[in-house]
Amino acid sequence: MVDYKTLPVYKVNATEPTRASIIKRTIVFVLSVIALFFGAASFLNEWGVGKEVQGKVSVPVSEIFGAFTSPEGPKDPDSLCPLVEKLDPSKYSYNKHTLHKILHDNKFKKESRKKLLGAVRVPTEVYDDMLNPNSTHKVRELFRLEPRWKPFSQFHKYLRKTFPLVHKHLKVEKINKFALVYTWKGTTDKKPIFLAAHQDVVPVQKETIDQWTYPPFKGGYDGEYLYGRGVSDCKNLLIGLLETIELLLKEREFKPERTIILGFGYDEESAGTGAGEIAKHLLKRYGPDSIAQIIDEGNGAYETVEGVNFVLPATGEKGYLDSLIELKTPGGHSSVPPDHTSIGILAQLISKIEDVQFESILTNSNPVLGQLQCIAEHSRYVSKDLKQDILKAHLNPESNKKVIGYLDKSGGKYLVTTSQAVDIIFGGAKSNALPEFASVLVDHRIAIEESVSVVSEKVLGQIKEVAEKFGLGIIYDGQELIAPTAKGYFNYTLVEPLEPAPITPINDATWNLFGGALRYLYEDLVNPGKNETFVVAPYISTGNTDTKSYWDLTRHIYRYEPGLPSKESHIHSVDERLLFDGHFTIIAFYYYYLQVVDKLGDEFFAS
Ligand SMILES: [Zn+2]
Repeated sequence: MVDYKTLPVYKVNATEPTRASIIKRTIVFVLSVIALFFGAASFLNEWGVGKEVQGKVSVPVSEIFGAFTSPEGPKDPDSLCPLVEKLDPSKYSYNKHTLHKILHDNKFKKESRKKLLGAVRVPTEVYDDMLNPNSTHKVRELFRLEPRWKPFSQFHKYLRKTFPLVHKHLKVEKINKFALVYTWKGTTDKKPIFLAAHQDVVPVQKETIDQWTYPPFKGGYDGEYLYGRGVSDCKNLLIGLLETIELLLKEREFKPERTIILGFGYDEESAGTGAGEIAKHLLKRYGPDSIAQIIDEGNGAYETVEGVNFVLPATGEKGYLDSLIELKTPGGHSSVPPDHTSIGILAQLISKIEDVQFESILTNSNPVLGQLQCIAEHSRYVSKDLKQDILKAHLNPESNKKVIGYLDKSGGKYLVTTSQAVDIIFGGAKSNALPEFASVLVDHRIAIEESVSVVSEKVLGQIKEVAEKFGLGIIYDGQELIAPTAKGYFNYTLVEPLEPAPITPINDATWNLFGGALRYLYEDLVNPGKNETFVVAPYISTGNTDTKSYWDLTRHIYRYEPGLPSKESHIHSVDERLLFDGHFTIIAFYYYYLQVVDKLGDEFFAS
């Protein structure tokens, strides 16, 4: 028997995600966000509804909500998207004057800008090939072996200097050397609230530095946007959270009953081990299902879709899998080849994989349906037929098919479909030598209704067909399924398998609380006197955040950061930027939200 373990196997970074895959993942995520909004607008428009205004469907919001009996929207008890009740934080102790200062005081803003720019100036770039800090090395030795971790130490120093009260009054723990956990211990045993962000940023490619308006690790402000690597992904969130806590400590009025935890990983843009270590630490300290709510980066600000303002916290994330398929065949001279070389056989497999696409599935558990229901109920631009189909999609197969059809047509397909993208291929070495190895990597984002095993079984089934045809063996995820033969064998490895995230429940008290508090932010603080309504609806991320490590801590995971609608923020690319006024919505929101959450009982966070 061929001992496959001793054979040289072409490595395609089987254990670590490649930087390209990380960037690609983010691009897909951002594109999906765009696709959803523009897709939704265009597919609704295709049904002959809505007016085209400069390429976008929009009308004054007042006109839309005139259609309903009250600005609170539909009151139908059977509504699939009832408006969450706006929360009035003045019922809870908080200082209106401070809120005003956060949002409107120029001195406060200037100081805040300095804090954020200072954070941007510490180049906490993370690379996929960095030595994991959990190595047994002491910090000094680690820095010698892996100097790229040094900025994280500087970053910690910077935070200590910039937020002295936080570091004086909160317990600060370094987990696995660089992850940070801050604990503001509450006076009761109410479930803690956990706010997350990450310290790391994606690297800046040296070749692109001269394309930046301001140097990426110096940053700059053009009077509207703040520029620099990490300024919007997501040092703004990290610094905003610390600013909020520093402010609360400075005022000395707020003494939390409910423990507040801040957790900042160090490699969200890479393997996410920092968040993994934070999760272990918190699970050990508090146990499973012990956290009231987790809020991390994710979707931000609000969007106007079909004339309706939507606030869209992501309540789900698609799963992930890279299928790495290697094929080993005997070598030989090219002048006497077999009919099919490893490359030819692999090509047949690839074409088989692509010929069978995953089916689109749209069930009630998919946040996309929740969002469509909200659009259907709250926008009067949706035609009667489409509205009916959307509202019946969870019951009626015919309607379901129609809605999927329109999602497919409008670029929203991968919100409801497992994707398969043949992304990397290797094989062959020389023109006169038969290729002994060929390999392919197929990237999958797994739909909410499917799983890693659904995907791997589909691919494995196709490998089996090809293996049978050519008399090859199969090793599947380290197990020998069919013994390697003299003709060779496939080695199928599941790289970075991640199930779709459990869906955060909506229509419960936590959702209403969070959504109601966001309505207050956008309706009363950001757009006062405009009488606009903001519909809070669920959303799905096609990419992943650090929350993938936090599933066991709570069911109430929200991927969302407050902000203002802005032009492209160029996350992960040249001229990453942040609409600076939006930064203060983070501080304002958490300033009152933390005080509200503190006063409420745990019945608001039942698991
Ligand atoms: Zn991020």
